[in-house]
Amino acid sequence: MSTLPLLPPVDPSVDHALRLIVAGASTESTCATDLAAGPWNFDAVPGYGPGSSMGDVIPTGAPRQGELPVAYREADEDELHARIRAAKETLGDRVVVLGHFYQREEVVQHADYVGDSFQLATAAKEHPTAEAIVFCGVHFMAETADLLSGADQAVILPNLAAGCSMADMASIDQVEECWEQLAEVYGPLDAADDEGLVPVIPVTYMNSSAAIKGFVGRHGGIVCTSSNARTVLEWAFARGRRVLFFPDQHLGRNTAKAMGVPLEQMPLWNPRRPLGGSSSAELQDARVILWHGFCSVHRRFTVAQIDQARAEHPGVRVIVHPECPMEVVDAADEAGSTDYIRKAIAAATEPTTFAVGTEINLVRRLAAQYPQHEIFCLDPVVCPCSTMYRIHPGYLAWVLEELVAGRTPNRITVTADVADPARVALERMLAAKPPVAVA
Ligand code: SF4
Repeated sequence: MSTLPLLPPVDPSVDHALRLIVAGASTESTCATDLAAGPWNFDAVPGYGPGSSMGDVIPTGAPRQGELPVAYREADEDELHARIRAAKETLGDRVVVLGHFYQREEVVQHADYVGDSFQLATAAKEHPTAEAIVFCGVHFMAETADLLSGADQAVILPNLAAGCSMADMASIDQVEECWEQLAEVYGPLDAADDEGLVPVIPVTYMNSSAAIKGFVGRHGGIVCTSSNARTVLEWAFARGRRVLFFPDQHLGRNTAKAMGVPLEQMPLWNPRRPLGGSSSAELQDARVILWHGFCSVHRRFTVAQIDQARAEHPGVRVIVHPECPMEVVDAADEAGSTDYIRKAIAAATEPTTFAVGTEINLVRRLAAQYPQHEIFCLDPVVCPCSTMYRIHPGYLAWVLEELVAGRTPNRITVTADVADPARVALERMLAAKPPVAVA
């Protein structure tokens, strides 16, 4: 997969928009006015901080970020940008800065590559001589970059508190426990039947911890992205009677439904209930067991928002991410990954009105990049991903200047016992191909 070059800097950003809202200079509203403050205000507080995930419960033991030195907290924006540029220039090819699509503009403007999590992990792999990869994204993404990069390369997450509430919804202990319970229902999970199919194949979304990817690799399973989920499910159904899909129920449900799997054969697995809350008979009949996880950013989108967009903008093209709930995907004109959304807008030759159901930073960047179109976020409330928000230019300046000083802060390392099977699961994904149509 090719990686994307740096996008040109653009003016509008969520951060600026939030400041205008808080100052009363904008008619827009936000889900949390403290988003306009520096994220270091929340480093000492357990929780995801303000933004879309603020209502989610953070796991005990989730990584915490130490206090950012005061020089970075008090520096103004121009000074931080100047320090970042100077440190990058000093480091040269020794460092690669990666920026996720959902990062704020103030961070993305310093990225050497901008993309989704897998594109960025691939970009890391394509720079084997860089000593450090600074990943402006969230924790599982830095782990994936560590899996794919060289052993002597340091992957750095500028703020350790930048987790992902969805990835945190499936812990390795919960998944191991689920697997044991499924073995009680189905019998030995590695025993193939007369047709060569095992009872269940575990499939994890890229948005999961390295421990979960390792679990999947050890148990004959595979990783998927929002771009290739259908291909991966086809791969899994060629090897198993059913699929255990985690952590995002919506991506699993939307993908399996589009493949013709009936909803009644997609029970939800609630890790807090015996057998996930289903009966043994329901699990026997299941085709896809959906983990009870979700993205709090994409869960905000509703059918009512789509109805309103259609009423106010006749002819509007509604595109949403497949992490949105099923009824939202069904009501939209199209659904696809962030890369799909970006390419669909780039490919539109006539001026078009787009209502987009994905993270606000990406939507605003697309609106600035394609002024010939009218592009707006389906959600009228400015509410970015809480955890992406934790990366601020202050943290980026800090980690880069630490590297200049010969220190390696916030290194993310996946141990070999987890990394080896996790790579197996990723390699299965890379090898999985859509079935060839036969005339
Ligand atoms: S947008 Fe959703 S899935 Fe992506 S990092 Fe934020 S919480 Fe996680």
